[in-house]
Amino acid sequence: MNSNADLAALIRNIPDYPKPGIMFRDVSSLLLDAEGYRMTIDRLAALVDPDTQLVAGIEARGFIVASALAYVLGLGQLMLRKPGKLPGEKIGTDYTLEYGTDRIEMHVGHVQPDQKVLLVDDLIATGGTALAGVDLIQQGGGRVEQALFIVDLPDLGGAAKLRAQGVRVASLIG
Ligand code: IMP
Repeated sequence: MNSNADLAALIRNIPDYPKPGIMFRDVSSLLLDAEGYRMTIDRLAALVDPDTQLVAGIEARGFIVASALAYVLGLGQLMLRKPGKLPGEKIGTDYTLEYGTDRIEMHVGHVQPDQKVLLVDDLIATGGTALAGVDLIQQGGGRVEQALFIVDLPDLGGAAKLRAQGVRVASLIG
């Protein structure tokens, strides 16, 4: 498993999911592979800014990446959750995604003022989800200067939108 191309080969492409015309990149087959999962986390960890203070993952597949990264880096993890899941006082952001609309929420007070937060998800497509994550963390008082993904689908323009917001974006595949 010497290159990111080896990791890309572990991702299944599933046509017409979740609707006709969409080619779904299924990272579950990459996560299933012990060496592939470890290499994915190690290579993402090597890209993380050294002054990062907190890792934010977006539900649900983002948690799988953010949890392992936070553990490896010795940092805490901030959960950006789908609506109705958080028990405490919360703030939220509505957004448009590749196939519909959605909302993510975060507990009030879980980001410290000006805390430097790394945003993580499995994949960036149109960028709607990640932009909502940036907005939410900023609403909470944090700073997002870097975002990491296993897969970027650059043709869908999400990474460019994040960069236009001043966020440095990197991914292993795409
Ligand atoms: P975006 O908001 O259009 O950038 O879509 C990214 C979000 O949708 C991420 O949370 C992904 O987990 C999910 N997503 C979109 N397309 C795919 C895909 O092809 N494979 C896996 N996840 C996807």
